[in-house]
Amino acid sequence: MTNQEDEQTIAILQEALAVSPENVPLRRHLAELLLRLGRIEEAIEQFQAVLERSNDHASCVNLGRAYYQRGDFERAEQLLQTALEQQATPELYLLLSKNAFARQEYERAGHYYDQALKADESLRESSYEEELARQGIVIRGKLRLLRFAEVEEEAEADQELVEQPTVSFKDVGGLEDIKEQIRMQILYPLQQPALFQRFGKRIGGGILLYGPPGCGKTFLARATAGESQCRFISIAIHDILDMYIGNSEKNLHGIFELARRNRPAIVFIDELDALGGSRQQMRFHGLRILTNQLLLELDSIATNNSEILVLGATNSPWFVDSSLRRPGRFDRILFVPPPDLEARCAILRLLLEEKPTEAIDYPQLARQMEKFSGADIRAVCERATDAVLSEVLKTGQPRPLRTSDLLAALKQVRPSTLEWFATAKNYATYSNEGGLYDDVLRFMQKAKW
Ligand code: ADP
Repeated sequence: MTNQEDEQTIAILQEALAVSPENVPLRRHLAELLLRLGRIEEAIEQFQAVLERSNDHASCVNLGRAYYQRGDFERAEQLLQTALEQQATPELYLLLSKNAFARQEYERAGHYYDQALKADESLRESSYEEELARQGIVIRGKLRLLRFAEVEEEAEADQELVEQPTVSFKDVGGLEDIKEQIRMQILYPLQQPALFQRFGKRIGGGILLYGPPGCGKTFLARATAGESQCRFISIAIHDILDMYIGNSEKNLHGIFELARRNRPAIVFIDELDALGGSRQQMRFHGLRILTNQLLLELDSIATNNSEILVLGATNSPWFVDSSLRRPGRFDRILFVPPPDLEARCAILRLLLEEKPTEAIDYPQLARQMEKFSGADIRAVCERATDAVLSEVLKTGQPRPLRTSDLLAALKQVRPSTLEWFATAKNYATYSNEGGLYDDVLRFMQKAKW
């Protein structure tokens, strides 16, 4: 079709829509044409109008595509995830991958690309693969190993997925209460099994960690494994989700089988909220099945002394299926707060330990880092290091890192926990079932946030 013909078609469609604005197929046709012609703003408007009138999967994907093309990756992500809950298609996976890449979330980009290829090999794009490789993402690595049915050598899969972390609790700043609770559930029972058995306590079980991002949930889980000399198996819900019905729960079952073969083990499941159980409209049937499978696995380790501790983590506990919170499953729900003053000092010390520094005024720095997450603190240290390095490269005069470098870097980093607390406060105020978020409220009161 020539441009002129396209223009004519657009004019005709617009006229027709003026007469019958509720005609969804017509509007969708117009929207798709506009998108194809690169008239993004108009396409967005039309796709929005389609979605106001119908729950059209293709339009949801295309609106996501339009936002992606406009560079509005946040909105694109929201729409593409909504579309994914309805139905997964290879093209949708590819788009999700590109959008994740644009958001510099390279691991997710690799994951989605892998899913797209598994469903449709013809979608392979070598130039994109090179871009992914430049970010350290190798397609069909770990994820392929998860498909246990395909793996001939179980041992090979085990080696790839099972770690023996070397970090331990001494590497985690603060969080003393939580460390003690974890010790009670896995460390002491492993050291004194007879004692715990006499009191009818099992070894292992489930603990759900929640709190703002970057405050050490993953780090703590890894340190738990190091501390208790357990093997560590880490998995994010996105890694086990598979577009083929039946595969996701097989993947999850495979993980628990792997843990059984390697016990005592810690299974760390990140992004538990992605199961989305409590988002009432569980449109994506696969998620329901996967949640049920997880419940089954948790119940099974609860009924015997499995020596498996499941640590779940989420930044959005309000989306976690309440069935996961019943006794015997994740029966301990622990709030992992941002580090307090002492913990911030400890984190700073840990992060700067191996760098050349002058005597650093840790308390002064830590005082100015109120509300900073562990990850924010790490960002400050990295910024300061970069600044010193680039100065040294310019002057050729090596010098250590000073408190003033860190103070300067600190001014450029905004605490990332604020947004989380604003959301959490809403949930804690309006849907604090059974005092679930009391710890958050107590923390906010105590810290005068
Ligand atoms: P989360 O899983 O809660 O999103 P992470 O565990 O990935 O957060 O934390 C991000 C990084 O911040 C960690 O790799 C670690 O370097 C640092 N960090 C966070 N909290 C602590 C802590 N309490 N002690 C030491 N380092 C921490």
